[in-house]
Amino acid sequence: MKYISTRGQIEPVEFQDAVLMGLADDGGLVIPESIPDVADRLEAWRSLGYSDLAFEILRLFVGDIPADDLKSLIEKTYGRAFEPEPAPTVRVGPIYILELWHGPTLAFKDIALQLLGNLFEYILARRGGRLNILGATSGDTGSAAIAGCRGRAGIDIFIMHPAGRVSPIQQRQMTTVLDENVHNIAVAGSFDDCQRIMKTLAADLDFKRKYSLGAVNSVNWARVLAQIVYYFTAVFDVQKQTGAKQVRVEVPTGNFGDILAGWYARRMGLPISRLILATNENDILARFFSSGEYSLGKLSQTLSPSMDIQVASNFERYLYYRVGCDADRLGGLMDDFARTGSLRIEVDADGLVDPPFVVGVGTQDDVLATIRRYHEQYDYLLDPHTAVGVAVADRLGVKDDAPLICLSTAHPAKFPGAIKKATGQDLARHPAIDALADLPTRCVELPNDTEAVREFIVKTIG
Ligand SMILES: *Cc1c(COP(=O)(O)O)cnc(C)c1O
Repeated sequence: MKYISTRGQIEPVEFQDAVLMGLADDGGLVIPESIPDVADRLEAWRSLGYSDLAFEILRLFVGDIPADDLKSLIEKTYGRAFEPEPAPTVRVGPIYILELWHGPTLAFKDIALQLLGNLFEYILARRGGRLNILGATSGDTGSAAIAGCRGRAGIDIFIMHPAGRVSPIQQRQMTTVLDENVHNIAVAGSFDDCQRIMKTLAADLDFKRKYSLGAVNSVNWARVLAQIVYYFTAVFDVQKQTGAKQVRVEVPTGNFGDILAGWYARRMGLPISRLILATNENDILARFFSSGEYSLGKLSQTLSPSMDIQVASNFERYLYYRVGCDADRLGGLMDDFARTGSLRIEVDADGLVDPPFVVGVGTQDDVLATIRRYHEQYDYLLDPHTAVGVAVADRLGVKDDAPLICLSTAHPAKFPGAIKKATGQDLARHPAIDALADLPTRCVELPNDTEAVREFIVKTIG
């Protein structure tokens, strides 16, 4: 499998180059040249465990790592770090919850970032050289990326977060990691500012090459790829439990990375009848799928901070396919968006942008009510991101012929404030979080300024 760019201006590259490239060198996003159809393999895959299924899926997209190496990379990733397994599905009342937070930082991003850390190390060990990872985080990406890269030979990791706008626990998960190769930066701005700084530096090709800049944000194709796997295991699980032919999947969405993986899974032939996209009040994606207009709104801070995003960095990948893989048209639309903060595409006769997508918004009130209700009725604690999705899913209701899987993206103990607000009690605890309380921290504070971040990177790596 070769990789190309959504903007159509790079020569096709192999998987390892795509992983190192992060953002494509022409400013677009890296995508596979084709999407494999696996419909005729689904029966054979049903009985596989997580790592074996991950191997079957990844090998279709990875042409330049020998099968034995790929297999051991995957086993190393999903064998140890996840307890008891990477992605169990549990029935809770009328829905199925896909628990994606059994990794080291208790958020779904571990599933992709543990793999990415192993991939970087593998690639660097063979090619030599160093990699300087630059990432922007609204909270969970940073800690999961740091957990994936800490202490690894050949890698320095710089993670920017918006100062004062990540939860105290997320902050501690990042800044208590004292490995010498980990550099936390608190930027005096919003998450979108952090993301803009990262994109500006990554788009400076001289700088990117000179300092071997790599990306861990969900623009990195390996992250989307890793996430495709759990859609398969979850759909297989629920089909086994219910006998249903089709399954609906609901995804709480911020940067459009997680749900994009679901879209690829569906395109590969997995029987997902609907992809339900849930946002919080930052509803640019929900508005897009119901009107065809993708336009910046005002950023709200909510109880689900990892979804407080206006510019969804993975949206470009989806839009590329939506406009018929026309890189020129896509480039024009992205230019419109960069210039005016808005782009528009046509809708069909029913007013839909793309029929498999259903969208909804879970407000803060919805989130609190949903956490409270699931706790009272089912004795199950939802984190405030998962609750955005469950609130939207609940509104759509139960359908016996298409059961509903809701992706659970974080353990509630990462967001104890929201849980207390919803239930009136301090219920959200986890020993891994409690253990961070008194640890020393390290972090630099920088102004909301690309040049300040550039200088810091240059100075740090010398
Ligand atoms: C990152 C994150 C999301 C959003 O995922 P995207 O891939 O950005 O859409 C949702 N919930 C949690 C807890 C997250 O960390």
